[in-house]
Parts: sequence; C-alpha cells; structure tokens
Amino acid sequence: MDTKALLGFDKNHLWHPYTSMIDPLPVYPVESAHGCKLKLANGKELIDGMSSWWCAVHGYNHPVLNEAITTQTQKMSHVMFGGITHQPAVELGQLLVELTPKPLQKVFLADSGSVAVEVALKMAIQYWYSQGNTKKNKMLTIRSGYHGDTFHAMSACDPVNGMHHIFSGVLPIHHFADQPKSRFDGEWDPSDIQSMREQLEQYHEEIAAVILEPVLQGAGGMWAYHPQYLTELRALCDEFNVLLIFDEIATGFGRTGKLFAMEHANVVPDILCVGKAITGGYMTLSATMTTDHVAEIISSNSPHVFMHGPTFMGNPLACAVAVASLKLLLENNWEQQVESIHQVLAAEILPIKDWEQVADTRVIGAVGVVEMKAAVDMASIQKQFVEQGIWVRPFGKLIYIMPPFIISDQELKQLIHGMKSVISTL
Ligand SMILES: *Cc1c(COP(=O)(O)O)cnc(C)c1O
Repeated sequence: MDTKALLGFDKNHLWHPYTSMIDPLPVYPVESAHGCKLKLANGKELIDGMSSWWCAVHGYNHPVLNEAITTQTQKMSHVMFGGITHQPAVELGQLLVELTPKPLQKVFLADSGSVAVEVALKMAIQYWYSQGNTKKNKMLTIRSGYHGDTFHAMSACDPVNGMHHIFSGVLPIHHFADQPKSRFDGEWDPSDIQSMREQLEQYHEEIAAVILEPVLQGAGGMWAYHPQYLTELRALCDEFNVLLIFDEIATGFGRTGKLFAMEHANVVPDILCVGKAITGGYMTLSATMTTDHVAEIISSNSPHVFMHGPTFMGNPLACAVAVASLKLLLENNWEQQVESIHQVLAAEILPIKDWEQVADTRVIGAVGVVEMKAAVDMASIQKQFVEQGIWVRPFGKLIYIMPPFIISDQELKQLIHGMKSVISTL
C-alpha cells in the first residue's frame, strides 16, 4: 500500500488515542523499528525518546525477544487459562514473585494496565466484603494520578485531567487527597501527608484502599515526589485499617532507578499492579500481585473465588516474551543502563530550568521532564521533533523523554540535543 493511501484510510477510519475523527492531527507512518530507532515510510529514522509509552525498554526488534515469541508460536499462541496452565505462565509467575518484595506471593495475570487496576480495586473490595464489611467499597487516591481509561480506573485518575465531568453520572466518585509537594530529591515537608491523614480520618469506614503511583506520577503530570510520603502513608493505612495499592504500571522494571519505585522507600503495598515494560513492549500484558493474607481472606469466605477471569488471561505468547524480557533486563544490568542515562539527563536537562519559556525540570532514573510555562502546540512541535530526527510526544505543558535502556551515549545526546533545540524555538 502506498503511503498516501495508508494515511488516507487512517484519517477517515482509525481512531488514535485521544483524537478527533473530524480534525485529526497528522500521524506518522512507521514501517519498522530496530534498536532505538523508528523508521518512517519515507526512510527517515527517528531516535525514540518514548519507549512506546514506557514499554520498549530493550528497544525494538530484539533478537532474544523475537526468538522467544517465535519459539512459543510454534508450540501454542493461546490456550484458555480456565482449568489449564502452562510453563510460560508459571515461569513468569516465578520471576514476578522473586523480583518483587517477599510478601507479594499471589499473581493475577491480566491483559492491560487498566485491567490490572480494575482487578486490584476488585481485590480490595472483595477483601472487605469477605469479612462481612460491605461499607468499605470506596477508594482514596492523590490528585494528578493516572490509573487507566476503564471506568473504575478512570474514577481514581485526577478529577480534572481525567475529565470526570463528562462521565460524572456513571463514575463511582472516590476521595482525593492533595498531591505531595515535597520533591523527590528535595527536603521532606511533614505537612505533605496532612491531607491524606484528614481524608482517612474522615472516610476510613467507607474506604477499601488507597491507590497511587509510588514516587513518580506518570500521565497525570510527570511529577516525582518524596519517598517519605510512602513510609507515612503505609503507617496511616495500617492505623486506619485500609489496604494500600501501588500502581507501578509505568514505574516498574527499573525506570526510576530501582527495579520498583516503592524500593526508594522500602515500603510494601498489599496489592501491586505492573504492566507496560513487562513484555519489553512486545505484547499487551499486566499483572496484579497480592499477599497470602489478602488472597486467603478473599478465598475463605463466600463467594470463595476471586471474581475475574479475562479471555486472554495468561496468554502464552505474552508470558513467554515477558519471561525473556525480564531475564534480559537482569542480564543487561539494567541498573547500570538506567544510571548512565540518568547522569546524562541530569547534566543536560536540569540546567535548562533557567530558560525563559521553561517552568521546571525534573529527572528521576531514566526519565527527563521539562515543564513549559505554556501548553505546547502538538501538531507543530511534533513536526519539529521529526525534523530533528527524534520521536518525542509531549502533552499539555510537559515535554519529556524516557528512552529505551539500551540507548547509546551518542543516540541519547542526539535525542536531548534535538529536544533542546526545539524547546529553544518556543
Ligand atoms: C499506562 C498506565 C495505566 C494503564 O495501562 P493501559 O495498559 O494503558 O491500560 C495504568 N496506570 C499507570 C500508572 C499507567 O502509566
């Protein structure tokens, strides 16, 4: 198909994430991807600054991951998980149990991040229901979070960014505490936890769980806050008899400089959601993990089962490539990869805070964020990035990069240089 025909059909028929069908912004046809580069249909190569939204930590078209998925295809691509099990699921379960903190022993395999969040919220509600408590069925979270696009997940997203007003009739509106203001690498301000304490004091009898993204809030604002918040929050959840859910769908598997962001505070939640980078960006897959205690309570009282079971649960292709991706992460020494990206990001991005058009800069692990004073014009800025030979996709005032962990020093410098050149013209 020639590019013109492809783009013509796309424009008239295909919905893209958060887009209009009347006046869609331009899309760029990608023909293939290799290493850290996306190759456009016109032959131009772009250095990928997004890892396809946190996922492609090993870059694209990786021989080890290709091999894992091809081998699995020849055995079976899919088989139902009801009444059946298989080695890819078991191996993935073993790795997840090994890599996460010890109390997290039980694994529910789901098919996307939003579903992992739905599963986590259901677990929390069923945990209280099983103990005869039907009042604890609301969630408490912090502002500026993002937990996915399905209804309950959306309900826990920031009420303003998350467009709650459109769906207000159907959203199970939950409780919101203020976003912690103490910076990740700054001083801890003890008053930061006050709003959370007040919400818990007032509403704990109807709250099943607190859900949040530990240390780094992603799509809700790319904000990195002080790990001490998590320590205090864990104590509050215990004090008020509320479960704690960490959504590590974006932060999991090394991105913030720890394998899981919760390790910055050494705090363990009752329920953990992972996704995105779990398959190295090859397949959609997520997991919700919990403790023996939560699983036993849910299972020991009516209805005696956990009420969820997606058709594609434990998909063997996705599990096989996840196993290969996690092993590769460990073999590649992800910690060193992330640390060297971090050094360059910190040296190059933090100082531009002084630029006229820039409001703030933040760097955590292999994530670099430039917050502009004004929202960017997506169509024109995207074009400028492509002209620079880089793939960066901002939202609102936020221009940020989180490249594949395998990016070379030279590619990283080119990526940052391109990003800064575009920012300098705004
Ligand atoms: C992306 C994301 C989700 C939703 O995952 P999907 O796979 O897009 O459904 C949930 N929580 C966080 C923190 C995310 O970054």
